[in-house]
Amino acid sequence: MNQSDSMKLDEYLFNFTDNNTEKLKERFFELLILYSLNKNLNLSIQLEDLLNTTINFLKDSLKIDEFCFMLLDNNRKVLKLWTADKATFEVAKDVTFNIGEGISGIVVQTGEPIMIQDVSKDSRFLYYKSKLTNIGSFLSIPLKLSDNRIIGVLNIHKKEINAFKTDDRIFFSIIAQNLANAIERARLYEKVQKEAMHDDLTGLFTRRYFFENCYREFSESVRFGKTFSIIIADIDHFKYFNDAYGHPAGDAILKELASILRTNVRHSDIVCRYGGEEFAILLSNTGKDGAAFTADKLRTLVETNLAEINKSKYIGKITITAGVATYPDDGNTVDEIISKADKFLYIGKVRGRNTVVNSAPIDSAPVDTTPVASTPVDSTTVDTNVVSENILLQDIAQH
Ligand code: GH3
Ligand code: MG
Ligand code: MG
Repeated sequence: MNQSDSMKLDEYLFNFTDNNTEKLKERFFELLILYSLNKNLNLSIQLEDLLNTTINFLKDSLKIDEFCFMLLDNNRKVLKLWTADKATFEVAKDVTFNIGEGISGIVVQTGEPIMIQDVSKDSRFLYYKSKLTNIGSFLSIPLKLSDNRIIGVLNIHKKEINAFKTDDRIFFSIIAQNLANAIERARLYEKVQKEAMHDDLTGLFTRRYFFENCYREFSESVRFGKTFSIIIADIDHFKYFNDAYGHPAGDAILKELASILRTNVRHSDIVCRYGGEEFAILLSNTGKDGAAFTADKLRTLVETNLAEINKSKYIGKITITAGVATYPDDGNTVDEIISKADKFLYIGKVRGRNTVVNSAPIDSAPVDTTPVASTPVDSTTVDTNVVSENILLQDIAQH
């Protein structure tokens, strides 16, 4: 709202030349409405809450039955419906207007409200592209932020003609500005929230979001006697890949891999980028067998498809190794489950990679590697498998 707008508003709200008690009462009521609107808007930080607050406010406090909010899209070129009363929403939800098109488009273009007391006499009116014909009068107000940027329009319509008072133009401009600022604030909040939840490169959830969900899942599992599993997967020999093909090619592989993981697990599973080239998946309500099956399915998909994707420029096979741990089988806290999955992953690496491990041969038993003096080692009878297992466990114990 510019300076002259706000002067108009002050004039509207506070200046009376006549000593009209009715008008005074009306203004008092309007100020009360504005006060209550702002109070509620301040409580609505999230877009979903704001949407409900706005609808309730228009219906209950202002007794407006037919309204429609249209917001500019990200490119600021097209107006799309954000919310509306139920009947309008149902018929007009897919209607869009370009800037300058129809009354809404003109209001966005000029930044000035338009009030039409009889729409049948105004050829600019398009009846929501003929979707909503039962309209007599129409008021379209720009949703203008405090810095004068316009983010959309608020349309109020009534079936009757001549249904608006001249003052409505100004009163609804104040309402619209408050709503516009609240919508923008909620959108910004949602954007920041979304960014904090998602990894820049892959678009997967962040480690922090993953952990929040793990703790929630854990509490629920304890309470309701449920189970959940965690898969930790790591790309095999990725350093070689980066060294051979460069970091940008490595990044492209990380993106492709993320997409394979995300699209091949259940919608409710949380897939996150756990570290550089490590990924973690939380599978709610899933036991060990189910999780191991999923992990192996993903391993096979990566082995076949990731190399496929890059077939045009052959880069060899890219594989992953995964560890799978389950609550309560593998531990009694989130940290224990995660460190078990990590340990199993490490066993998979030592075993030769491109594999899924969901249990250890001798579960974390400390390995005594001290030579027993009284038992001379007969080199001819050394079982190489046992030796390698001992080296393996020693290795894991240090991990
Ligand atoms: P291993 O099979 O034992 O996992 O071998 P590795 O080479 O994958 O494991 P290591 O942990 O030694 O190296 C991980 C490498 O992953 C280091 C780095 O080159 C690569 N990496 C980590 N984060 C990124 C990233 O964001 N982009 C790219 N391009 N590479 C990354
Ligand atoms: Mg690796
Ligand atoms: Mg790694």
